[in-house]
Amino acid sequence: MREETADGPGTASKAVVVGAGVGGLATAIGLRRAGWTVTVLERRPASDRYGTAFGIHPTAQTALDRLGIGDALRARAVPYRDARIRRPDGRILAALPLERIERKAGRPELLISRPHLIDALLAELDRLGGAPIAYGRHLTDPATLGADLVVGADGINSAVRTAYFGTRSRPRAIGTVAWIGAAGFETGLYGETWGEGRFFGMTPVEPGRTNWYATVPAATTAPDVREAFAGWHDPIPRVLAGTDPETWIRYEMRHLHPALPAFVADGRIALVGDAAHAMTPNLGQGACTALLDAEALTRAVAAAPPGGLTGALRAYDAERRRSAQRVAFCSRTLHRFMTGRRPALRDALVGMLPG
Ligand SMILES: Cc1cc2nc3c(=O)[nH]c(=O)nc-3n(C[C@H](O)[C@H](O)[C@H](O)COP(=O)(O)OP(=O)(O)OC[C@H]3O[C@@H](n4cnc5c(N)ncnc54)[C@H](O)[C@@H]3O)c2cc1C
Repeated sequence: MREETADGPGTASKAVVVGAGVGGLATAIGLRRAGWTVTVLERRPASDRYGTAFGIHPTAQTALDRLGIGDALRARAVPYRDARIRRPDGRILAALPLERIERKAGRPELLISRPHLIDALLAELDRLGGAPIAYGRHLTDPATLGADLVVGADGINSAVRTAYFGTRSRPRAIGTVAWIGAAGFETGLYGETWGEGRFFGMTPVEPGRTNWYATVPAATTAPDVREAFAGWHDPIPRVLAGTDPETWIRYEMRHLHPALPAFVADGRIALVGDAAHAMTPNLGQGACTALLDAEALTRAVAAAPPGGLTGALRAYDAERRRSAQRVAFCSRTLHRFMTGRRPALRDALVGMLPG
């Protein structure tokens, strides 16, 4: 608990968190638990119900446990098991390494819908006495914020990052878009199917629904997507036929490049999540790394002695930067491998992976 602050002893320290996505809300919870007064600024006019599913790796589950949201996560999440990598004709190439992850961690990878995770984070924030969320506040200049700590959790186009690190590290398109959606039935068949320059993924997400994502060249429009996967193995064409393109979400796949030299600046600025290390979604680690950042940052801040915020930010940077940047690099490399020009070689290599 920090009591000594810029405002004088006995006054709770003040933080502004920019962005009410997964990373920002988790950070606000960690700071509230540490006794800080927190305000969250969010440019959207209200809390959104946007997005399909997040894979939550066991390490991110531990971060959520430490933030007090583990039980709420498990109440709505489903385990991800028995997923395979297939060819478009349905032949199995390899298993996704989910069983290995489960054996090592002692618990499975979980899948949860983004709206349910956001709801759980908002409910925990409320339970802790709340942090006002100023919806409709699009921050342009973080230097105007008079807080002891400013956390940039404002996503891939982060205004906080740009203000403190300039535009050398910036989002780069990789020429691929992902269309994501949820089908109103359970396929019972999960994993990824890799074709030439495109791939299709299906995961469980909640009873009666299947989460799917289709990755295609950037110029592909929604009507083209069904055509791009026509003739692929069942149930892929059925999944696409059974969901209304009006409900599909289009993501341009981008990553932050080059990697930032630091996640912290000026002794009072910290970046978390996509603001710090936006990555391609191939490893399904974007939300996980945002949660790990939020937990590590707020743990370091909670443990800091009076006047020790600068040291706490350095400790956060040391704990998270290399690790998150390594995940981002591996995700990008996997993307290249999955969409490479020599799918036969790729498939032969993948087929050699242990099951
Ligand atoms: C196709 C696809 C599939 C994915 N699948 C997975 C998956 O399976 N598992 C996984 O872990 N991750 C996945 N991700 C990644 C995940 O969506 C993000 O990486 C993760 O949500 C990062 O959260 P964040 O809080 O850092 O950023 P965001 O969720 O982007 O939140 C940033 C928030 O800040 C607000 N904001 C932005 N600028 C300002 C401003 N100037 N002022 C005020 N507010 C501002 C935004 O409105 C937003 O609410 C996937 C991504 C894609 C594209």
